[in-house]
Amino acid sequence: MSFIVNKNERLNVLVEDLTHDGSGVAKVEGYPLFIPGALPGEEVDIQVGKTLKNYGFGRLINVKKASPDRVDPPCHVFPECGGCQLQHLSYEGQLVQKRKTVRDVMDRIAKLPHVPVHPVKGMDNPWRYRNKSQIPFSEQDGKVVSGFYRSRTHHIVDTDVCIIQSEEADELMSTLKHEMHAFGIDAYDEKAHRGMLRHLIVRKGRATGEIMVVLVTRKKKFPQKEAVVELIKRVVPDVTSIMQNVNDQKTNVIFGDETILLYGKTFIIDSIGPIDFEISARSFYQVNPEQTEVLYGQALEYAQLTGGESVIDAYCGIGTISLFLAQKAKEVYGVEIVPQAIEDAKRNAELNGIDNAHFEAGPAEVVIPKWYADGKRFDVLVVDPPRKGCDEELLKTILEYKPKRVVYVSCNPGTLARDLRILEDGGYRTQEVQPVDMFPHSSHVECVAWLETTL
Ligand code: SAH
Repeated sequence: MSFIVNKNERLNVLVEDLTHDGSGVAKVEGYPLFIPGALPGEEVDIQVGKTLKNYGFGRLINVKKASPDRVDPPCHVFPECGGCQLQHLSYEGQLVQKRKTVRDVMDRIAKLPHVPVHPVKGMDNPWRYRNKSQIPFSEQDGKVVSGFYRSRTHHIVDTDVCIIQSEEADELMSTLKHEMHAFGIDAYDEKAHRGMLRHLIVRKGRATGEIMVVLVTRKKKFPQKEAVVELIKRVVPDVTSIMQNVNDQKTNVIFGDETILLYGKTFIIDSIGPIDFEISARSFYQVNPEQTEVLYGQALEYAQLTGGESVIDAYCGIGTISLFLAQKAKEVYGVEIVPQAIEDAKRNAELNGIDNAHFEAGPAEVVIPKWYADGKRFDVLVVDPPRKGCDEELLKTILEYKPKRVVYVSCNPGTLARDLRILEDGGYRTQEVQPVDMFPHSSHVECVAWLETTL
């Protein structure tokens, strides 16, 4: 309920801001209205939707005065699909907006208005950057549909093309969709827990061109398996790995426990800079390898390694940053909570002949204090936590032992700013922040921050 605007009322408003998820924000006597599809600087006609005590929503009816940064979204299912939030904003405009988001939290949350936030490092070609697609299949009115889930729902927005993913993923997605009934294969029906094909996963090594296709099926036995393998090979002659994963559970989780090799190898190889990675059907791996190289290059630059340092890589995943750092450091210690990822990290170290990287599975906030208690000392600490930021215990450990330099890689500017404030109060000084655009057309932005102790 609001007393300033009424539901269904038509208004003409000036859009002042953009939220982190891509909605325009206009204020009516200080009361914020969120308007999906509107851009800062625009004059728009809206119809008021839901109103709450402190804010409300508006539906965009007409753009009266468009932003100079407005563009026609090239994708025909934008914005229904929900995968992208900013296709109506020029790429340059997106980068400006993302820098502003970071600047804003550095001022407001970190209280560090003097710390430079550099222009966002973006992509030269911000399309077809994703190296992994996980595409759900379903039946709607007797027809197979595949595409992406509408935001916050389990309704598939049907499409044959996604210009964020590889061309091979497009071709496989549409060919399977249009031809699978002819092979006697139907798509999974989530509600009835019937049908065969649940997900198609396509992974591509950017540097190597190797391609893996995974079909997630409800049952192990599915008709005309061999014919489907031949179909995939016809569509993507360069395919190097075809796998089947069986998931017979009623669940949102994509993968089941059993993975079966149907053709080729069980993994693909990709490289980031000089380091090779072995990626299996379920391995975690960054989805935009071109920008990952930019992100890690920045982390490496801020770490300023000369060859003599002991370095921690906290939240190391499959060791991607650790192996990057190991080339320039005396030794690197990586810690990560998922044991399987640590196994991958160890194998990737071996694959690259790197013997100065050590990995341990466990929570960073437990394992790192243990390393210190064992008498180990570190010069540089790199953290790359999940969206919720660093664990409080980990921040305490950092402040207790004070490694000279901290490099903070973050996928969430809000929690980055919160943690920078805690580290500042404990005696660190943030030197600068470099945002990197890992997900063009989405509202996400990654950052690398460089901190030094004052001691
Ligand atoms: N640096 C890696 C992965 C970063 S994603 C890369 O760039 O590829 C964050 C990682 O933190 C995930 O792999 C997640 O499993 C891990 N993680 C989450 N909580 C953790 C904790 N408490 N301790 C250690 N690792 C954790």
